[in-house]
Amino acid sequence: MADTTLMDKLVSLCKRRGFVFQSSEIYGGLGSVWDYGPLGVALKKNVKDRWWRAMVHARDDIEGLDAAILMHPKVWEASGHVAGFTDPLVDCKTCKARFRADKLADSPCPQKPSKKAGEHSTCELTEPRMFNLMFKTFMGPVEESASVVYLRPETAQGIYVNYLNVLQGSRQKVPFGIAQIGKAFRNEITPGNFIFRTREFEQMEMQFFVKPGADAEWFEQWRELRMAWHHALGLNPAKLRWHQHGEGELAHYAKAAYDIEYEFPFGWNEIEGIHNRTDFDLQRHQAASGKKLEYFEPATNERFVPFIVETSAGADRVTLTTLVDAYREEQVEGETRVVLGFHPSIAPIKVGVFPLVKKDGMPEFATRLYHDLKQQVPAFYDDSGAVGRRYRRMDEAGTPFCVTVDGQTLQDGTVTVRHRDSMTQDRVAADTLRVWLRERTED
Ligand code: ATP
Repeated sequence: MADTTLMDKLVSLCKRRGFVFQSSEIYGGLGSVWDYGPLGVALKKNVKDRWWRAMVHARDDIEGLDAAILMHPKVWEASGHVAGFTDPLVDCKTCKARFRADKLADSPCPQKPSKKAGEHSTCELTEPRMFNLMFKTFMGPVEESASVVYLRPETAQGIYVNYLNVLQGSRQKVPFGIAQIGKAFRNEITPGNFIFRTREFEQMEMQFFVKPGADAEWFEQWRELRMAWHHALGLNPAKLRWHQHGEGELAHYAKAAYDIEYEFPFGWNEIEGIHNRTDFDLQRHQAASGKKLEYFEPATNERFVPFIVETSAGADRVTLTTLVDAYREEQVEGETRVVLGFHPSIAPIKVGVFPLVKKDGMPEFATRLYHDLKQQVPAFYDDSGAVGRRYRRMDEAGTPFCVTVDGQTLQDGTVTVRHRDSMTQDRVAADTLRVWLRERTED
C-alpha cells in the first residue's frame, strides 16, 4: 500500500520551508510543473555538483558539454523520436480523463470513491492510441510545418551530434565520455507523484564512447560506478535495487538496459537508467546527415563508429529521492522532531548561527561569525525564539550543524556546536570553525 501520508507531509514541508512550489500557483497551478525555492534550488544544485564532480572533475576521460535545448528537427527524425517516442494512451468516455495504457494500475480514476482507472463499473476506456511525448513549437515568425522545432525530450542527442567536436577540441581518445546536465521536456500523459514525473525536468546524462566489442565490459563498469554514486550520496542501500529490462521492455536503441530503482512511498521506481545504446544513434545521425561520424584509432589504424554506454539520471528525481530518504520524525521530550537527515554535502544550509540571547555582545559576535562563515559555507543566522525552536527549524531544513554563541564564547572564544542527527554538543574554537565545517560538509 502506498504511504501517501509521508508524501503529503513531504510536499507540505517542501512548500512551507521553500524547497518546491507548484508552478504558477496563484493561477491555480500548471499541471506537473514545479518551481524550486531557496532551499530546493540549493539542494538540487548540490546534487548536480556532486554528479559533475564524480563524472567530470574526478575523471580524465570525461568532458563536459552544454548543448542547446533547441536542435535541428532532423535530429529527432534520425533518433527515432518523431516516429517512436510515444506512449500508449487511453481515454475514458465517462469521465473524459486520459491515462497511460501501461500505467492503469497506478492511475487514480477521478470518480469517487477512489479507485484505479477502469475499475468503476461506469468506466469506459477506449482502445490504446499512440501519443508523441515531444513538445512542439515554431522557430521564427511563421507558424508552419517547415518551422517546427521540438523541446528536447532528452539531453543525449546534443552529445551525439557534438561528439566529434568534443573529441577534436579535447584531444581525447576512445574510450571517453561526454557529460551534460540540462533541461528536458516530455508531454507526459500521467505525470505525478510531486517532482517524480514532471513535464519539464533536468537530466544528468553521460555518454561513454567505446570500441565495438568493449561495450559489455564498460556497461558493467558503469553499472557498478553509478550504484556506488547513489550510495555515496547517503541514500539507504536497502532502498536501492537493480531492475533489468526484459526483451519487451528494451528501448528500440538498446542492447541491454538496467534501471537503478528506489523504494518511494508510492513503490519501487526508476531514478537512473544505464543503457548499452550500441552504435544505433551515431549510425542514424551519420546516415541522416551524410557526415561521417567514424573514429580513427591511431594505435590500430582502424576506423569505426563507436558504441555508446549511457548513464542517465534525473536531477529532480534524485533530489526527490534525497528528500524522501532523509525525512524522519522522532519523539524528543514529548514533542515530534521533523528532521531532513541529508548527507552534509547536499544540505542546502550547512550551519545555523545563533546568539544564545540578544544581549551582552552575543549578537555582535554571532553576526561577525556568521558573515565570516558565509564566505565559505552556506550559513543561516537566527536570533528569534528559544534556542530549542531554532534547532527544530534547522532540523527541518536539514542543516547538519548549529553553532551557538554563549557566555563562555565571550570568555574563551569557543562556541557550542550541536549535531543534527545525534543532537550532541561539542565546544569548538570559533576561529577554527571555517575549516572544521568544510572538513565535515565537503563530500
Ligand atoms: P520512466 O519509465 O519513468 O518514464 P524513462 O525510462 O522514460 O522513465 P529515461 O528516458 O531513461 O526515462 O530517462 C532517464 C532519467 O530521466 C530517468 O531515470 C529519470 O530519472 C529522468 N526522467 C525521465 N522522465 C522524467 C520525467 N517525466 N520527470 C522527471 N524525471 C524524468
